[in-house]
Amino acid sequence: MRAAIRRAERDARRAVAPKIRPVRAIGTVAAVGALIAGVAFPAYAAIQSEAQPVSVHDVAAGSAQSLVVASEVKTAGVAGSDYSATTPEEVAAAKAEAEAAERAKQQAAAAAQAAAAQTYTTTSAAPSVASVAAPPAVSGGFGAPLPGGYTITRSVGGAHQGTDMVIGAGTPIYAVTSGTVVTAGYSGAYGNLVTFVGNVNGSSVEVRNAHMSSIAVGPGQTVSAGQIIGYVGSTGRSTANHLHIEVRINGGLVDPMGVLPI
Ligand SMILES: [Zn+2]
Repeated sequence: MRAAIRRAERDARRAVAPKIRPVRAIGTVAAVGALIAGVAFPAYAAIQSEAQPVSVHDVAAGSAQSLVVASEVKTAGVAGSDYSATTPEEVAAAKAEAEAAERAKQQAAAAAQAAAAQTYTTTSAAPSVASVAAPPAVSGGFGAPLPGGYTITRSVGGAHQGTDMVIGAGTPIYAVTSGTVVTAGYSGAYGNLVTFVGNVNGSSVEVRNAHMSSIAVGPGQTVSAGQIIGYVGSTGRSTANHLHIEVRINGGLVDPMGVLPI
């Protein structure tokens, strides 16, 4: 088959004027590339068709879909190719399909790497449970959710709605203010989640504490600031032991780093 392609390419070079063929080939590659990119990454079809670069971050945003769809595109592209093609247009189209499939595969791989980069890997510095200190003092309406020794790896940004505090499994998690527990159980990506609602200086405050290894309170229970509500773990969508904490004031999401003493 490769010999046939080479022959066809040689014939094509002879048959078509040099100034015309590259333009046609590039046009075909661009058209097929845009078509396949549109299938593999629907959200970025417009970007692809304008031949603008797609950042790793953009690709990562759709990684869950692209990882699956890209493999289908590759299969469809190869299956749809006819390597016995003899006209320059067919040869160019077949090559473009194969190249586009390869690009889709590479984009999927890049997306997988980018997604992996967003997981949590800072576990070596996490202290053991034995080093846990007494519950932190409440100041300014809020207390800290963890004893010292944690590492903040991420806060609010993009689709991420909380602050990630990496620390050893089993570290106690404290209620950052007094309130009433509204959720205490496993909840999808949050894993073991405790959500409680309190009142700070006249404002309604909702606090979500995610990825717990175990939960120490129940729904409807009243908690006081500094009370242990659960223990650090890595349940749900998490790859390392950490507390993911979200804070909403009067229903609006805020950055925990701006309101909690952390
Ligand atoms: Zn998080």
